[in-house]
Amino acid sequence: MSLAHYRAVVYKKRLPFWKQSKLLTVADDFSLISTEQLWKLHDELIRSLHSGKGSKKRTSLRENRSSLLDLKLELTRRIYKSCTLCPLSCRVDRLSGEVGRCGLAKGAWVFREGLLVSEEPFVIPTHELFFSGCNMGCKFCQAWEGVVQTKVGIEFTPNWFAQLVELRKSQGAVNIHFVGGEPTVNLLATLEGLRALEIPLPLVWNTNLFATDEAMKLLDGIVDLFIADFKFGNDKCAWSIGGVEDYVATIQSNLVKASKIASLVVRHLVMPDHIDCCLKPVVFWISENLPDETFHLMLNYVPDWKAWGEPSLCRRLTEAEKEWAKEIVKAGGFKKMLVTE
Ligand code: SF4
Repeated sequence: MSLAHYRAVVYKKRLPFWKQSKLLTVADDFSLISTEQLWKLHDELIRSLHSGKGSKKRTSLRENRSSLLDLKLELTRRIYKSCTLCPLSCRVDRLSGEVGRCGLAKGAWVFREGLLVSEEPFVIPTHELFFSGCNMGCKFCQAWEGVVQTKVGIEFTPNWFAQLVELRKSQGAVNIHFVGGEPTVNLLATLEGLRALEIPLPLVWNTNLFATDEAMKLLDGIVDLFIADFKFGNDKCAWSIGGVEDYVATIQSNLVKASKIASLVVRHLVMPDHIDCCLKPVVFWISENLPDETFHLMLNYVPDWKAWGEPSLCRRLTEAEKEWAKEIVKAGGFKKMLVTE
């Protein structure tokens, strides 16, 4: 989808997807409908949303009727009962207070929040909310103090969020930007927040994209711009550094999906001694499969957390490594590319 959709929302030529999903009306009561039927209804409405055929329904929203966003909330609640939002498939009952590997039950906490100008040029000034909890355990995580310990910071509530967005918009924010940790493992709280929101700002989802098909379907019709990490070029590094299995196939599949349902930027943070094994395959795959998307090469790796115990991760990149990385990406022939040093 390139950046065209996101830009159209920023310039008020189109409503954000989450807002369109709020305006599409559906059945009034989901409680008697099976999960299978709800997914069918969901997929039908998503097709309608993307084809623009939902526009008539948008103007006929009646009070007390449920929306596509409500339907997504219901499906998310059902998933939380035996959580399979991500491939770790913990199957814990998060609604009853059980905690999965992401460290989260039902609630969500924001450990940092504010108007930032240090992100990609087309998203700033951006209103970023950093959520606790993550389904990966990257040894070099720079936000680990807020990510690993959940229940730090402010508990996310819909009213607090809606008021905060109003404040940040008055200060110049051009979007709402969910980051983590990992926003996808906080899906229920974020959808509840969007339900309480009226201001039609585009939604940026800054994610590791380690999510199941169902989670990706729930993000369809919600997210306007994915800023997605493709962190590791092979499953061995993903396991030893990120702590997850079946990484590469999951991310490749989800990147393709993300590019079809929203605007997309793919980031790769270059790690020292991981140019051949990680950067090269990532660049090769993206240039082959997503040549029209924006690629962001990040050369600003700084060791943190458990990286200090790993010889290959406990230093910054050398100047020679940075030049080598740039050469590799140049050979990828990307039409749209960003570099951060
Ligand atoms: S989102 Fe959390 S609880 Fe759910 S499967 Fe992933 S790690 Fe487990």
